[in-house]
Amino acid sequence: MERMLISGGNGFLGSHLVDKAISGGIDVTVVDDLSTSKKRQIPKEATFIKKSIEDFQTSEKFDYVVHLAARPSPEDYMQNPLSTIDSNDIGTRRMLEIARMGKSIFMYTSTSEVYGDPKVLPIPEDYFGYVNPNGVRSCYDESKRFSEALIKAYERQFDLDVRIQRPFNVYGPRIREDGFYGRVIPRFIDQALNGKPLTVHGDGKQTRSYLYYTDWIEATWKFLKVPDAKGEVLNIGAKDEITVLDLAKKIISITDSRSRIVHMEPRAEDPKRRSADSTKAKEVLGWTPRTGLESGLEMTVRWLKDR
Ligand code: UDP
Repeated sequence: MERMLISGGNGFLGSHLVDKAISGGIDVTVVDDLSTSKKRQIPKEATFIKKSIEDFQTSEKFDYVVHLAARPSPEDYMQNPLSTIDSNDIGTRRMLEIARMGKSIFMYTSTSEVYGDPKVLPIPEDYFGYVNPNGVRSCYDESKRFSEALIKAYERQFDLDVRIQRPFNVYGPRIREDGFYGRVIPRFIDQALNGKPLTVHGDGKQTRSYLYYTDWIEATWKFLKVPDAKGEVLNIGAKDEITVLDLAKKIISITDSRSRIVHMEPRAEDPKRRSADSTKAKEVLGWTPRTGLESGLEMTVRWLKDR
């Protein structure tokens, strides 16, 4: 039986990956300190270790080591800059050591934030980004960039099989809608369903491209399994951009809500546009996103309503 270690396996994306691995007959171990996920959301079949990844060590060997533990929500990571950095530098180092000892396939979920406030759109992987090294977002984007450097150093020095993905704004069931953790889609849906105003930062003209979680799972699974993907760095995201204001209007319409839209202070250093060029993922994995925003939003609304 193959074995997979997943850090952050109790979170939004992690828990879906755990389900996928277990249904594929893989023996899964999750390390998660539950710092950003509310309650345990992984099945009993998975071994669960409640620990911060920075403090985790093991002599066990795994076929796959997947490092997902991170604090990806801007409002949350700006409040917790040091622990955000720790999961990316110390955490990545710990996971790399485990992969090196076990001669595992190492997968890292980096981020589209490594591109900062991009000047090239849609963004290909060989665009090096436009990033403020000491701005309020640097605890996240620069430490993710550092992680990538660390991972590539392990590849060069130890010939480790490393695979780096850069997800672009993934959403869907199990994503948190509350507090600092709420990313824009679950927060807007929650506000719309509860008749609260939708809180658009700034003029709302900033754009993102959103990816439904099932597309992310498909890409991630292929990326883990395809032999030719060794050493690759791949964008996992959609190309179609939508402004935050249009997203708010779309969510109001899908939920049939009477909520209004209010404009808040712009977020510090909010990237103005973001859209993925996933040509390389198509070439390497034979993958392209399948779920459109409209149907992804409808499924997410249904999930949030049912809770
Ligand atoms: N956003 C917003 N209102 C909110 C939360 C987010 O207008 O209540 C905007 C935010 O300014 C950004 C976009 O939505 O331009 C995406 O934010 P999110 O936190 O989901 O992730 P990011 O892509 O910034 O990492």
